[in-house]
Amino acid sequence: MSPAMASGSVTGRIHSWDLSTGVDGPGTRFVLFVSGCPLRCLYCANPDTWHLRDGREATVDEVMEEIDKYRNFLVTAGGGVTLTGGEPLLQPAFTGAVLRRCREAGLHTALDTSGLLGARATDGLLAATDLVLLDIKSFDVTTYRKLTGGALAPTLNFATRLERLGKRVWIRYVLVPGWTDDEDAVDGLAGFLSGLDCVERVDILPFHKLGTAKYDALGIPFPLRDTPVPDRALVDRVRGQFRERGLVAH
Ligand code: SF4
Repeated sequence: MSPAMASGSVTGRIHSWDLSTGVDGPGTRFVLFVSGCPLRCLYCANPDTWHLRDGREATVDEVMEEIDKYRNFLVTAGGGVTLTGGEPLLQPAFTGAVLRRCREAGLHTALDTSGLLGARATDGLLAATDLVLLDIKSFDVTTYRKLTGGALAPTLNFATRLERLGKRVWIRYVLVPGWTDDEDAVDGLAGFLSGLDCVERVDILPFHKLGTAKYDALGIPFPLRDTPVPDRALVDRVRGQFRERGLVAH
């Protein structure tokens, strides 16, 4: 059996797919939402991706068949495929197989991850990944724990590994008033990132409440229901802090 045939029968649990243009990597992207996430970010907009059991089983072949419908369009649009979730590294064999198959099909590949499970990403998986979208949710260990339920250190270790491997990295930073707008913590993160040549840009993602209806539908309280979204001045200040450290921030 050829490697492609073998990988085609690998199964994963997925939530959905969609096309997007903007923050999921360059150009127009086929975005695959993989089910399951070990974190519980208070601001999560996709609580319907948290549980593996809520996803539907799909083979790599089935996913590739869908991606193939858009292949020419994605290539022409300078885009590619982004795996997100949930947390794609919760299912590293499936995620790795999809990334490799996309690479073989000549498609640009991006992996959106919190980095918590970065140790599960094999060098082979990363070799098939053109761009890592690394979500760093706070640079303060206590805030990180309260905000996500997990530990910060694995994410920073993963960033350091990506630097060693010379991967291209875009950082994603969700800006939440009262949670991730602390000047010292932002400056600490900016200082850390400015020491990594692999970081091409930092995307400041203003907190929003578009996921509220999903929480209501699932009967789960949305913890940040009463938290304000950041105003323009706050977004500009935080973006400016990254730029002061020589980083490209959007
Ligand atoms: S890592 Fe992403 S999917 Fe998981 S809880 Fe946080 S925001 Fe939601």
